[in-house]
Amino acid sequence: MPGPAARDAQASGSPLIDTHGRVHRDLRISLTDRCSLRCTYCMPEQGNEWLARTSILGLDEIERVARVAAASGITTFRLTGGEPLLRTDIVEVVRRLAAVSGPDGPVQIAMTTNGIRLREVLPQLIDAGLSRLNISLDTLRRDRFRDLTRRDRLDEVLDGIAAARDCGLRPLKINAVAMRGVNDDEIVDLVEFAIAHDAQMRFIEQMPLDAGHTWDRSRMVTRDEILAALSARFTLTPVPGRGGAPAEKWALEGGPHTVGVIASVTAPFCGDCDRLRLTADGQLRNCLFSTTEYDLLPILRAGEGDDAIDAMLRSCVHGKLPGHAINDPAFLQPARGMNAIGG
Ligand code: SAM
Ligand code: SF4
Repeated sequence: MPGPAARDAQASGSPLIDTHGRVHRDLRISLTDRCSLRCTYCMPEQGNEWLARTSILGLDEIERVARVAAASGITTFRLTGGEPLLRTDIVEVVRRLAAVSGPDGPVQIAMTTNGIRLREVLPQLIDAGLSRLNISLDTLRRDRFRDLTRRDRLDEVLDGIAAARDCGLRPLKINAVAMRGVNDDEIVDLVEFAIAHDAQMRFIEQMPLDAGHTWDRSRMVTRDEILAALSARFTLTPVPGRGGAPAEKWALEGGPHTVGVIASVTAPFCGDCDRLRLTADGQLRNCLFSTTEYDLLPILRAGEGDDAIDAMLRSCVHGKLPGHAINDPAFLQPARGMNAIGG
């Protein structure tokens, strides 16, 4: 971890700008490493080493970190996991975070979920202040869903998406990881499903972040292959103004519907990255692929002041590399899987 000199690089309350000039506005908060599914690209079927329950941040601890981050210009908190809806206090987490304000006003609360339990809690989440939803869905076929997630729960996910369609939160996004020989023949079907649910479909290149370390580049469907599949059915027009967003977007048939591609491997977008991550056990991370973590847990639990949290946030930002190195032969996959980092 960088020393005190680096931490003091910027004054408390000033924006979180790294040494490459990137201003950080988005904090992804993982609420748990547990999940109701076992997607092959994320978690192993068995043998997970779960985070110790005593190390999982509580409501007050999450809120405290969020308040300090918002004071330094974080404007969006994205709740993720693991599966965030497994947290029994999820509504209260949203309520507390939605009440946080920064220099530019109230923050936005987004959530990435697999959709299971969503219908049951969505009205309460909206009442608590949730602003946006991303729901993951890799296939519309029950047998594939069961193989891919190792759970027979497609109906519950579809029900969650139907509930999201009927609520007022927009834009609604549906995310799929594209995999060769697994769901790459469903690219058009998934887009049509998303359109029917007034949602934006987004395809993600599979990344080397599975807890079992089984990623194989040859099974990843690339951005160009996804675009080729889409172009065979739709006229695609690039949507300008991407900013720091991970997805490149195209209008379908001139709009208004759009499709997005998140090409972290073949077309990295690190130069505009504005994201930081907080794991469920209090580790700050400046990149999905980083092998360095900045431990907030002792600070939160030893009664230190908010200035110590702020200093740790600044250390984390200061230590951010210009980009990930997935395509470098010396790339080392982080020890944690995606479920424990927070996607
Ligand atoms: N459980 C929730 C869900 O699935 O939406 C939230 C957590 S999940 C880790 C967040 C996102 O990461 C999902 O859209 C999932 O598809 C994506 N993801 C997980 N492992 C991935 C991998 N190896 N490569 C690309 N995306 C991945
Ligand atoms: Fe669970 Fe999401 Fe990982 Fe699938 S991608 S195993 S739903 S955390």
